[in-house]
Amino acid sequence: MELEDYYRQFAQLKRAPNRIFPETTRHKAPHKPLLLLAIMEMIARGEITSRFISIADEITELNDLFSAYWRALMPITQTSSIAFPFSRLHSEPFWELVPLPGRQISREAINGVSSVSQLRQLALGANLDEDLFRYMTYAESRTKLTDALLRACLSDQGQTILMAELGVQHQAFRYSLELEAKAHKIKEPSTEVPYADAVRDQGFRRVIVNCYDHRCALCGVRIVTPDGHTAVEAAHIKPWSQFKDDDVQNGMALCRLCHWAFDEGLMSVDGDYRVLTSRQMTAAPNAAGFLITLAGRPIIGPKDQALWPDLGRLSWHRHYVAVGL
Ligand SMILES: [Zn+2]
Repeated sequence: MELEDYYRQFAQLKRAPNRIFPETTRHKAPHKPLLLLAIMEMIARGEITSRFISIADEITELNDLFSAYWRALMPITQTSSIAFPFSRLHSEPFWELVPLPGRQISREAINGVSSVSQLRQLALGANLDEDLFRYMTYAESRTKLTDALLRACLSDQGQTILMAELGVQHQAFRYSLELEAKAHKIKEPSTEVPYADAVRDQGFRRVIVNCYDHRCALCGVRIVTPDGHTAVEAAHIKPWSQFKDDDVQNGMALCRLCHWAFDEGLMSVDGDYRVLTSRQMTAAPNAAGFLITLAGRPIIGPKDQALWPDLGRLSWHRHYVAVGL
């Protein structure tokens, strides 16, 4: 197949018309093009390396991209799951679901899929058409496919919005690699082009969440939903607002509760990487639950020693943020 054949297939994507979808999507379901764009970005990152796209493993990164593109276009009240386009793309000539052994892919089975757990009961993943995958691996043809997809599926305004978001996501990925390289003292981040806040936020989040493998450094909670949502956030030890410090050693992955308690100074970390809790948590009428049982326990850091939080920055936190240790 030629590249132009895929432009045609993109222009003919079956997308449900519905007024709940905004004008930017031409009032048609944007799921399929958004998933295809997320897959192309994953190929550009080297995270998808074959035409078989697995959903058997954690799909956090693919889901993060799909969600970011979705949020750029859709009203805040509308949510979605990548399970919709992942299954419904089966009706397109370039996409084929690979069933679990013994399962049949039927229209009824596909129509019953609305979550990733349901999708996993049906399929191992999907195969992209061989030629299409090959085109997606080359930067030049990938750019052309992206343009064709945007033009085919979105209004002019929608194309502009999504082009900007594609740029943010790609730069955030590059920024996260720079932060990791800096932690390994391989390279200083480039200072020539200052990154936009949205890029920086997401790049920092990506590197921290990945190097802590989605586990809260203070309480050890690790929950990733089948849809790839994670319970942890990337916390700065010395606040970004004051110090503009995105070093990996100035970060920890924390669940929402620990993040809040850490920022409030109700939890901290000592010079031996042990959890400290504040007396204020136990003051009546508070009920801090399991948080106070964490006192004295070792924190859970990244596998890679070079990425652990810096003791100097933790000492700053004990000094200037923590209260009633
Ligand atoms: Zn926690």
